[in-house]
Amino acid sequence: MIKTDLINLLYGLGIQPIDITDNWVRVSCPLADINHISKKDSNPSAGFKINNNGPSVFHCFVCGTRSMESILNTYKWRKGVDLFRQYITNEVPEKQESITYKEKVFQKKEPTPIPDVLLDLFEPIANAKNYIEARRIDLDIAGHHNLLYCKRFITHTNSVWENAVVVPIRDKDYKTYWLHFRSIDSKRFWHGKPNHFGLDIEWGREDSFFGMEHLDITKPVILVEGAFDCLRLKTLGLSNVIATHGGISHTSKKLLRLKNLSIICGFDADPAGRNFHKAVERFFQKSIQSLDWSIIGCKDPGEIKSKEDLQKVLQTNKRNHRFQDKWRNKI
Ligand SMILES: [Zn+2]
Repeated sequence: MIKTDLINLLYGLGIQPIDITDNWVRVSCPLADINHISKKDSNPSAGFKINNNGPSVFHCFVCGTRSMESILNTYKWRKGVDLFRQYITNEVPEKQESITYKEKVFQKKEPTPIPDVLLDLFEPIANAKNYIEARRIDLDIAGHHNLLYCKRFITHTNSVWENAVVVPIRDKDYKTYWLHFRSIDSKRFWHGKPNHFGLDIEWGREDSFFGMEHLDITKPVILVEGAFDCLRLKTLGLSNVIATHGGISHTSKKLLRLKNLSIICGFDADPAGRNFHKAVERFFQKSIQSLDWSIIGCKDPGEIKSKEDLQKVLQTNKRNHRFQDKWRNKI
C-alpha cells in the first residue's frame, strides 16, 4: 500500500502511528494484548511496511510477520472493527484533517475489559450447583463460560450482594467486558459497575454478545436473548449459540459483527422476541429463519424440557416467509 492509504487504513483501525518514514510506519504492536506474554508493547518495535507496488506487511519483533489480511481479520473478529471490504475494494476511508482524526480515535474508545482480579472475588460456579442444575444447565458448560458464584459481597457503595450467579460477558479474546448478576433467591438482576468495586475506570464494549468466546464462525449460529437460554441450548447439544443479553433494534450496530454469518433467531416466543427477529431481518435486509419455542409450550429456550422437544422445534419446517421490506418507505 502507498503511504497515505496505509496511514488512512491504520487510523480507521484505531492504530496511532508513532513515526512515519519513507518505507515504514512504526506503531505500538496492535496485537500485543493477544500475542505478547506481557500483554503490551512497552518498547514499540512493530510497524507496517510502505509498499508502492503491492501489499503492505506487518512486522513485530515480538510476534512476527503477518499479512495485512491477517491483521484485518484479527481486527474484525477480536475487536469488531471491520475494514476488510474497504481494503479489498480499495475504498480506504478518506483522510481528513489530522485534528478530526485524533478526535475520531478518541471517540472510537477501545473496548476496556474488566480487570481479572475482580473475578477472583467470587467463588466457582460449582458452589451454586443446585441452582444451575435446577435450571437444567450443565455445570461444566456454565464453567466453560466462566460463570461464578457470589456468596456475599459488600460493594464500595455499601450494597450487599448475596447468593447470586455471576455472569461474565466475554469476547473472542476471552476477556470479560460486562459483569451481570442474577439473584438465586429472587428475580433480581443487576450489573456490576466499576464504582461497586471502588474503581474509577470505565469498562465494557458496545458490541458484546454472551458466548462470543466460543463462537464458530463457520457454522450457523443461533441467536437468543439471555445467557441462560444460551447455556440451556448448549446443554441440549447445540454448541453454536450466542445471546444478545438485552434488546436489539434494527439500528443496533452490534449486529454488524454477525455480518456474513448464517444466523437463526431463537428469541423468546413473545411480542418482544418477535420484534427482535424482525429487527435482525430489517438490519440484514433479508429473511432469517426463526425458531418457535411456543410449539412445545415454552416461552424461551431456557424452558425447553428435553432434547426431543428441541428436535421438534428444529425440525418444524420453516415457513417459506419471504422477507418483505415493508419499512422501506420509512427509512
Ligand atoms: Zn507484536
